[in-house]
Amino acid sequence: MSVISYKCPNCDGELVFHPRTQKYRCEYCISAFSQEELNRMQPETSKEKQEDVSSGKTRNQEGSVYSCPSCGAQVVTDKTTAASFCYYCHNPVVLSGRVSGEFMPHKIIPFAIDKEQAAEKFLEYVHSKKFVPRAFFKKSQMEKITGVYFPYWLVDLDFEGTLQAEGKKVRVWREKDTEYTETKLYWVERRGDIHLEDITRNALTKANNKLSLGVLPYDMSRARDFQMGYLSGFLAEKRDIEQRDLETGVGREAGDYGGKMLRDTVHGYDSLSVKKCTFDVRRQNWEYVFLPVWTVTYEGRDGKVYYYSMNGQNGKVCGELPVDYKKVFLFSGLIALIVFLLGLTGGYFL
Ligand SMILES: [Zn+2]
Ligand SMILES: [Zn+2]
Repeated sequence: MSVISYKCPNCDGELVFHPRTQKYRCEYCISAFSQEELNRMQPETSKEKQEDVSSGKTRNQEGSVYSCPSCGAQVVTDKTTAASFCYYCHNPVVLSGRVSGEFMPHKIIPFAIDKEQAAEKFLEYVHSKKFVPRAFFKKSQMEKITGVYFPYWLVDLDFEGTLQAEGKKVRVWREKDTEYTETKLYWVERRGDIHLEDITRNALTKANNKLSLGVLPYDMSRARDFQMGYLSGFLAEKRDIEQRDLETGVGREAGDYGGKMLRDTVHGYDSLSVKKCTFDVRRQNWEYVFLPVWTVTYEGRDGKVYYYSMNGQNGKVCGELPVDYKKVFLFSGLIALIVFLLGLTGGYFL
């Protein structure tokens, strides 16, 4: 497997993808290039400086060790790492073998929010919450923000659903001292073509499902064809959950949803009992995509670690905030005090 770093065509410095301008920037000579410009300037073969480290380097089962193309130091990776940084020279490296072949994403949404904006948005979010400990607002906390491309599966489904049910209408009336009950039974059938788009599933075992799904949705109309260069300057993780692992679950969920849609078209009965509901998948399209997520962790005084994630395209935040009990008590004390005072004034005027 090769480790790749993206080099500036002017000075051979490291190129990093810059979310605000959507261009590659060289920190050394301060030049910027769009993907198109890079494609034009550098023929495919010399675009990346590659270092083949597959021979003679140590490997273990969990991760692998590669040498950095810039300084030669060893880069230690997890088994799902696809892009990272060199510990020594801090240059970005991309592990090309983990984003090529069957593991090449079909699409990617490049980061549109940079680190500075992400920190700002996190703080805004936290400020809007009550009971958050002060330490959380510290700048050092925000410096730990990390941009990661997480792997997801995106599914489009076309299916035909059939619903068969028995509807019941009941009428009760009274004539003199006799009560009549009339029950009418109806056979109800519904058939519909249902199209579900962009059903999104987490494709990484170690990702926290709540957080990785909590940042959804993304505007997929702005997804681009995958280019390794987008990973430069960020972390990226390769999938370890396959399509076949998810097919049954997605099918069941789509079925439940479709069943509900068909049921919702039936009106006017006092009760409805579903006899049969079947689905035929006509077409399904699975796409492997990389989506941008800013993540930050916070270790509370109780030793518990809190995780947050933010959609790297639109800034939507998801996470669990630590609660400062001192603040809660102060707050509830205040409420009790106000109530007490109100009670007093109320009592005074009564
Ligand atoms: Zn340069
Ligand atoms: Zn290095």
